Amino acid sequence: MRNLKPIFHAGVCIALLAACNSKPSNDKTAADTTKTVAAAPAGPGSPIKYDSSKRYIFLTWDDSPQPPGTVVSKRIFKEQGVKATFFAVGMHYDIDPVRKRILDSIRNEYPQFLLANHSYSHGFRDNYNKFYTMVDSAASDFAHAQQQMNIPLKIVRMPGRNNWAGKGEFRGPKSSEKVARRLDSLGYQVIGWDLEWQFVKGSAPKQGAAEMVRMINDKFESGYTNQPNTVVILAHDRMFGKAPYTDSLARFITLLKQDPRNVFETIDHYPSVMNK
Ligand SMILES: [Zn+2]
Repeated sequence: MRNLKPIFHAGVCIALLAACNSKPSNDKTAADTTKTVAAAPAGPGSPIKYDSSKRYIFLTWDDSPQPPGTVVSKRIFKEQGVKATFFAVGMHYDIDPVRKRILDSIRNEYPQFLLANHSYSHGFRDNYNKFYTMVDSAASDFAHAQQQMNIPLKIVRMPGRNNWAGKGEFRGPKSSEKVARRLDSLGYQVIGWDLEWQFVKGSAPKQGAAEMVRMINDKFESGYTNQPNTVVILAHDRMFGKAPYTDSLARFITLLKQDPRNVFETIDHYPSVMNK
C-alpha cells in the first residue's frame, strides 16, 4: 500500500472533478487538461475524491472463485454498471483452469472490479481457532495467496473473522487480533464488514433484496459503521448462482441505484485504505 498517493492528488482531482479547477468549465485550457489526464489508465489504488453528499457502498464478495456464482455476480454487476471487490481464496483458484480464468478476468477488469486476498487455505479449511493461534503460518498463508493469485494491492479479509486493521488501529475479535496485527505490520490493510447478506443451507440468501436495502439505509441513517458515510457489504459469490437468487441480486442493485446518493466503489477506495 506504500505506493498509494495522497487523497487530494492534483492530477486525479482534475481527472475526476472538473470543479476542482477554479477556472470556469467552458475554459478551453481546463477542458483540454481534463481530456488529457482522463485518458491515462488509472490502476488499483489510484485515489479518488469523496463527495460528502454521496453514500459510498462497497460490495465485497468472498470466497472467489466459486462458479457459477462468481460468473453470475460479475455479469449482474456489469449489466448494472456497479463496482465490486472479490476476496479470493488461493485453494479455490488452484482447482482448475476455468477458475483461474475467472479470477484473471476479475484482475483484468479494474476499475470495475478489484481482486483482493482472502487467504490461501481459507483459515486451514475453516479451522479458525487453530489458524488464528498460529500467527506465522497464517501470515505465510496470506503471503502465498498474495503471490500465487497476483493480487494487485495488500488488502486482506480474514476468513471467518470480522477484523479491521490499518494505520495501527484495530477493531474486531480479540481471538484473531494477533494475526491482524501481524498483517498490519507487513503492510496489509485488513477489511471487515458493516453488514452481511447472510446465507442458509450453504448458499441460499437469507434476506430478500428489499430487506437488504432497508438494512443498508438503516446503517447509513444510524451512522453505526466502521467509517462515516460508508457501508461495506459482505456476501458470497456462491449465493447468486441459481436463477431466483440471481434475480434477487439484480433487484438489490436496481433498488440501491434508485437513490441518487448511492455510489458503488471498490475497496481500494475505502477511506482508511486511501489515507494510508
Ligand atoms: Zn470466506
